[in-house]
Amino acid sequence: MKVTGNTKIIGFLGSSYKTSKMYDMYNSAFAELDLDYQYVPLIVDDLGKAIEGVKNLGMKALGVTIPYKIDIIPYLDELDENAQRIGAVNVVVNKNGKLIGGNTDGIGALRALKEKTEVKNKKVVILGAGGASRAIAFSLKDNQAVLTILNRDIKKAEELAKALGEDISFGGYEQLKRELEEAHILINTTPVGMINTDTEGQSLVDMELLRPGLVVMELVSKPRETKLVQDAKRRGCEVVYGYRMLLHQGVEKFKMYTDQEPPIEVMERAMEEISGD
Ligand code: NAP
Repeated sequence: MKVTGNTKIIGFLGSSYKTSKMYDMYNSAFAELDLDYQYVPLIVDDLGKAIEGVKNLGMKALGVTIPYKIDIIPYLDELDENAQRIGAVNVVVNKNGKLIGGNTDGIGALRALKEKTEVKNKKVVILGAGGASRAIAFSLKDNQAVLTILNRDIKKAEELAKALGEDISFGGYEQLKRELEEAHILINTTPVGMINTDTEGQSLVDMELLRPGLVVMELVSKPRETKLVQDAKRRGCEVVYGYRMLLHQGVEKFKMYTDQEPPIEVMERAMEEISGD
């Protein structure tokens, strides 16, 4: 791809890029639309200095990932309404020198889920109460799903339930069996099962608790076939893969980066290649 004096740089802030190749997805979309943008992964140790660099170099925007989704907030000039209520940022746009944080995880998850099921009036059990869980929970509540939040640290599940509203159930994983009896959708928003971690090959859910008809959504995208996904398929559940959410949250970011309609098929093709096991 040709780089010019006007090329707009979009940085991807994280602490390690050994497995992520998301820049392939964005750069192939920029090339498709002939947009003079480059998406560049940046490994960051000192967030404050990195943000100063973004401003001084006039970078156009940032994608933000673990571990900076919350830590970046004090360095930004503004948060949009969505990022404010979630309390986490996965995208930053530089508007005339002002850095504005947003969050596309909720809409990305909703789009991925809607490829397989409606959510209105469906009972949804969410495992985890971290940043991704918060984004998804608000988005599902806006779409009238009936939520239960389960987390290892029950206090965090309670905090999230209270932030969402009066009628949201919460608890610990010992409630899984009971909660799944009437659930339509189960979402794992924890990193359990992720490659190169001490929970690789593990799942928080006993296979026996999964039953045909349940929609099981996995946020972990490496590996694609986590233990939870494998168990869900064996038990006849409908599966929503982590890479589908990754695609859709990226499609939303592309719109914010460029103010253009994204070439979804091109991004989808790149994502298939990136996310293959
Ligand atoms: P986070 O804010 O650090 O939250 C992590 C959550 O997982 C917490 O609820 C934590 O429970 C729980 N957890 C962590 N380790 C656990 C374990 N060994 N056993 C049980 N629970 C455990 O992280 P996040 O930003 O929400 O991200 C969570 C996962 O979602 C990551 O794997 C991330 O890569 C993935 N993600 C995927 C997408 C996508 O597009 N596919 C988008 C965003 C995030 P405690 O509160 O008890 O510690």
